[in-house]
Amino acid sequence: MNKNPYKDRQYVVDVDRKYSWHPFTQMKDYENVDPVVITHAKGIKLYDADGNEYYDTISSWWTSVIGHCDERINAAIIKQLSLIEHVNFSGFTHPYAAEVFENMRSILPDIYTRFFFSDDGSTAIEVALKMAFQYWQNIGKKDKTKFVMFNNAYHGDTMGATSVGGVDIYHKIYKPMMFDSYIVPAPYEHPRKSEFTYDARNEDFDPASLEQMRKVMEEHADEIAAVIVEPLIQGASGMRIYHPQYLTELKKLAEKNDILVICDEVATGFGRTGTMFAFEQAADFTPDIVAVAKGLTGGYMPMAITLTNEKIFMAFYGDFMSTFFHGHSYTANPLACAAANATIKILKEENLPKSNSVAMEYFHERLRELKEYDFVGDIRFLGFYGAIDIVKSRAEKELFSAETRIGLKIYRNSLKNGLVLRAIGEVIYWCLPLNVTIEEIDIIIDRSIKVIKETICQVSTKN
Ligand SMILES: *Cc1c(COP(=O)(O)O)cnc(C)c1O
Repeated sequence: MNKNPYKDRQYVVDVDRKYSWHPFTQMKDYENVDPVVITHAKGIKLYDADGNEYYDTISSWWTSVIGHCDERINAAIIKQLSLIEHVNFSGFTHPYAAEVFENMRSILPDIYTRFFFSDDGSTAIEVALKMAFQYWQNIGKKDKTKFVMFNNAYHGDTMGATSVGGVDIYHKIYKPMMFDSYIVPAPYEHPRKSEFTYDARNEDFDPASLEQMRKVMEEHADEIAAVIVEPLIQGASGMRIYHPQYLTELKKLAEKNDILVICDEVATGFGRTGTMFAFEQAADFTPDIVAVAKGLTGGYMPMAITLTNEKIFMAFYGDFMSTFFHGHSYTANPLACAAANATIKILKEENLPKSNSVAMEYFHERLRELKEYDFVGDIRFLGFYGAIDIVKSRAEKELFSAETRIGLKIYRNSLKNGLVLRAIGEVIYWCLPLNVTIEEIDIIIDRSIKVIKETICQVSTKN
């Protein structure tokens, strides 16, 4: 066993093919195609074992907020390693968690005073759901046990998160395992007035989009514990963007009906939507419980926080039976805390995302220009997220069939062009780091269009 896995690409591929089971992956797709062996990364670029480089246009599943292998975050983790790697977080605390609380407090509205650590987006959502549920149990409103969700929601893959998820391809099969939730149409599910969505915040808010929500809340207020939302953008269902006013109105309705609001900032937190948190963009929208994960550690380590206010916290404060009996082995892991503290410090010192708004707007401009292509069915953007729907023909609203696997083909071609371009169904999206440059945006968009055009050509000639 003298194999050096960093040098021997084929060795890694062989071992991977024999033993690995990749996430969200039909493993048979890799029978004749090798997974890419990434050996290192810097900034927005990934490097493979063959010496190729790739623009990571999806920020490694939306986690990396200021690029890979930032010297400052590296140094913070190395320094932390010399002190302590981990200690259980019940009965003990440590300065690194204290620093996380202070840092989070400094970028959040004052009302958020309590921070519960877990490991990733899904666990942060489990915590949020159980917290909301038990809140009502603890204060004696025992019938409030149900949740309201959007039909296309995505909140993670554990069972609670799956039960408030509505993306059929991920969730449907597990239906018999799930608890029932009230499902209402997502806010953007109304006919678009303009040809393209672009920046959904510029559309007129349509009060009708809230009608179903109002109905469910009013009719079932007695049994509803909380409503859960992805603020402004539903990521995994295809980067669907909606109007901030929806959230403002939602909060009013929730307050009127004594229902908690859980805000899933897992994909939107830490600057990705152009503000530190997406919920800030909606007036008078202060969710009761907020889940953050992905960007929290700059994409370095799995760590999440479910944060809430003193009112929720105090419902658990008292006798033994009102305890929140939930926790994970790696709660407040010091290495992850160090990464989070370094990340937040950089965002603050560099005034990100605001200080890079010129590049952000340039990105939007480049996306708008894509309207010239007939294969672009819609264009949407919010902060450093952008997405287009790929269609066969815009005028006829003709879609590629699912069997075409157009998204997978675009992804594979993108790799040949030094780019990681992932698709959600027929939606191609970009999720850029907050410090992306105009030069990088040009390269990314130019190459993306080349890849999409070529792929559509290949698919069309085959049919
Ligand atoms: C990714 C995601 C999750 C789940 O996070 P994991 O870290 O993958 O468990 C939850 N909610 C939203 C909105 C997400 O995008």
